[in-house]
Amino acid sequence: MRAWRAAFHQEPELSGDEVRTREKVLQALRELGLPTTTFPGSLYGVVGMLGAGTSGPVVALRADMDALPLEEATGLPFRSRRPGVMHACGHDVHMASLLGAALLLSRHPRALGGPVKLLFQPSEEEGTTGGAQPMIDAGCLERPTVAFVVGQHVDPGLPLGTIGWGAGPFMAAADSFRLTVRGRGGHASTPQQGPDAILVASEIVTGLQAIASRVRDPTDPVVVSVGSVHGGTRHNILPETVVLEGTVRTVRPETRDLVEQAFRRRVRAIASSLGARVAITYRRGYPALINPPGATATVVRALEVEFGRKAVVQVDRPLMGAEDFARYLERVPGTFLRLGVGGKVPAASLHSAQFAPDERAMVFGAATLAAAAVALQHGSR
Ligand SMILES: [Zn+2]
Ligand SMILES: [Zn+2]
Repeated sequence: MRAWRAAFHQEPELSGDEVRTREKVLQALRELGLPTTTFPGSLYGVVGMLGAGTSGPVVALRADMDALPLEEATGLPFRSRRPGVMHACGHDVHMASLLGAALLLSRHPRALGGPVKLLFQPSEEEGTTGGAQPMIDAGCLERPTVAFVVGQHVDPGLPLGTIGWGAGPFMAAADSFRLTVRGRGGHASTPQQGPDAILVASEIVTGLQAIASRVRDPTDPVVVSVGSVHGGTRHNILPETVVLEGTVRTVRPETRDLVEQAFRRRVRAIASSLGARVAITYRRGYPALINPPGATATVVRALEVEFGRKAVVQVDRPLMGAEDFARYLERVPGTFLRLGVGGKVPAASLHSAQFAPDERAMVFGAATLAAAAVALQHGSR
């Protein structure tokens, strides 16, 4: 697994560009003697198959494949050889762990209670279309029909040797917006001549926080963040337009709809009350990731047997990050887990140039996926 991971890590590829990564996955699966399927065009996913032709529930195990546009600063001996691209979200660890699970299960074929599909999925970091939906559209959950799906993500907040789980809302839906506020440009000494786009944009930035605090039940999390503000050129010129960009995170589908409506209403109301116009682009990204309680309980019990109760940690609050594994869970039951990669020293966060997960976690990652597949197939309770 370490060799596989180092190979992935040294040659990271961005979303939609996972050509070499796919080659490495295919080669590893061939070495394990497993049949593989690829997709046409630029969908660089791979489906590997274990126990093809056996009867029993089909379990799909998923790992994502893409890296991020970051200049690596870990100093690892197998650090990225590609300038400005880095596996900073642990997807290299996810792939190596899934290959480890395939190795484990292929050595113990009698443990299986049916076929296991190995889903290597590109473009998770892309954020809107993602890679899960194109894989589903291309039939990765059919022929044979998948009954359960399991995935995991490294978590530097959990200690090495632990697995985090949660039933119900586990990760957020992530939608993005772009607002173009149009006022009237002119000399900054004569603001009375027309709506000031900077002032209107500022009112919008502040006003949006009332959505997060006043539209929904306070126990139901909502995040509205403006991440970019662009307008103006110098101190004494009022610009004609200001562009705001940001993200909206929710965990309940009803809240997601409610917040979008409130967002549009409030932005228009603020702009029109100040005589300005605003163009709103609101894009839906990945849906919330909701872990079904039944399948989650089956997996958790199996992991407690495998690793001991202390190692299997309930995560009580949803993470407001998003993950396109949610798309599989919209179709079939299963569960998404967190793999502890934290050490004694506080680990660098995901998506940072210093992110260096403790790779011994791959032992747990591989065993977790293998144990989850077997448990779901046998319905052990
Ligand atoms: Zn990421
Ligand atoms: Zn990730």
